[in-house]
Amino acid sequence: MFGKGLLKGLKYTVSNLTKQNVTTRYPDEPIEMPDRFRGIQKFYPEKCIVCNQCAAICPTDCIQLTGKPHPDPNKKGKIIDTYDINFEICILCDLCTEVCPTEAIVMTNNFELSEYSRDELFKNLEWLDENDTNVREENKA
Ligand code: SF4
Ligand code: SF4
Repeated sequence: MFGKGLLKGLKYTVSNLTKQNVTTRYPDEPIEMPDRFRGIQKFYPEKCIVCNQCAAICPTDCIQLTGKPHPDPNKKGKIIDTYDINFEICILCDLCTEVCPTEAIVMTNNFELSEYSRDELFKNLEWLDENDTNVREENKA
């Protein structure tokens, strides 16, 4: 009885030796995410008009932003001063990027955000601006 089970197992193992691997060598080899993957946002400060729509629609209230008057007195409106996302509670739902009228905030294909401290999950304007990992072709400035 034991011998029959062993043979059955060996047969299955041998039959799978020639099949294509379904596992990858991550993280040694990067994983290509699908084109519409909703990954960690990239922010383009120069495009932001401080309309506040992204913060208003965010279902988890994880976007905090402030603006300041445009430095050029001949120009109306504000420019962005601070922009923070709390990735402890961001659910990567894509709503902030959908409502943004200038595409100042866009989703990327970047999913790597593991940290040893929760405090590290607060990302500011500079970090989001420099998040150039796996930005979708269509969203490159
Ligand atoms: S992806 Fe969703 S939860 Fe995250 S900041 Fe944007 S609106 Fe908020
Ligand atoms: S919706 Fe876009 S333009 Fe408006 S504040 Fe947010 S990032 Fe800036």
